[in-house]
Amino acid sequence: MGSINLRVRFLFMKKAERPETGILYVVATPIGNLEDITFRAVRILKEVDLIAAEDTRHTKKLLNHFAIQTRLISYYREKERERAGELLEHLQAGMHIALVSDAGTPGISDPGAILVSLAREAEITVTPIPGPSALTTAISSAGLDCGSFLFLGFPPSKSGQRRKFLHSLGGCDYPVVLYESPHRVQALLADALEVLGDRPAFWARELTKIHEDLQLGRLSELLTKASSQVSRGESVLIISPDKVEQATGDTVEDLLCWYRDHSGLTLKDACRRLASDLGLSRSQVYQLALKIWQETENDEGDTLPQNANQEDPA
Ligand code: SAM
Repeated sequence: MGSINLRVRFLFMKKAERPETGILYVVATPIGNLEDITFRAVRILKEVDLIAAEDTRHTKKLLNHFAIQTRLISYYREKERERAGELLEHLQAGMHIALVSDAGTPGISDPGAILVSLAREAEITVTPIPGPSALTTAISSAGLDCGSFLFLGFPPSKSGQRRKFLHSLGGCDYPVVLYESPHRVQALLADALEVLGDRPAFWARELTKIHEDLQLGRLSELLTKASSQVSRGESVLIISPDKVEQATGDTVEDLLCWYRDHSGLTLKDACRRLASDLGLSRSQVYQLALKIWQETENDEGDTLPQNANQEDPA
């Protein structure tokens, strides 16, 4: 009904008064804290003729907060194609439309792509209004080397498929960024630990919200935390690559230095990995490792075990 009225309004405009076509604005909105919205986003949301929202009730709260009275129309995943067609007609009739999702940037694990591509095909101007995304927010606070990263959105929800998916990431040289819902994050951590090993990871929970919680640790530590928490919240998980796979060096000593400085492994674990990778005896590698680890012994009370004299305790 609403959409018919809007179309009628434009059909009854004198042709000369009608703009050629409207503009589709793709507007990022907060992922929790309502203050995380740009001045430009607020202005555009006020000025457009229509806001296409994933969940109109959810977006209404944001609009109320900023006293925005623009009309809302729903645009959600299940009706994305059908709604995109209707919205395209409005754009062609000259209406300016803002596309928003429930949180963050539309099109990132959210509806949006179909409307944007239809608009492009129809030579409608598409203007992004950048702002928050859980993806960039998590990366910015992780402190991991994320110059390059692999973002894969939500992993499969069923355990078998999720494990297969995680297996496929085993050799990835980049941090892998995943989204997960509150009730599945513990299962994801458990599967990731089992399939990928105890890698360093970053778990960003409830970003920008009251219970924001940022945890850097090994997957095993994060899993322990998740197991003890009742409410796990919306999550972004960043899993570091297996540094041991990337070890570089011409000699065993070089490789040990690399493990010591880059892998985060204890002396014992580094020896175990290196001995098995190179087919050497563990005690041989252990004697070399002792010397190398001793060089940094005093730096940070490093990982030398108490009985690190002669024997490989493993
Ligand atoms: N388009 C959004 C964006 O730009 O980040 C993502 C939408 S996706 C449907 C929702 C997922 O994003 C959540 O399940 C969670 O993984 C992540 N997410 C959204 N808000 C978050 C927050 N405040 N803290 C942590 N993760 C969040």
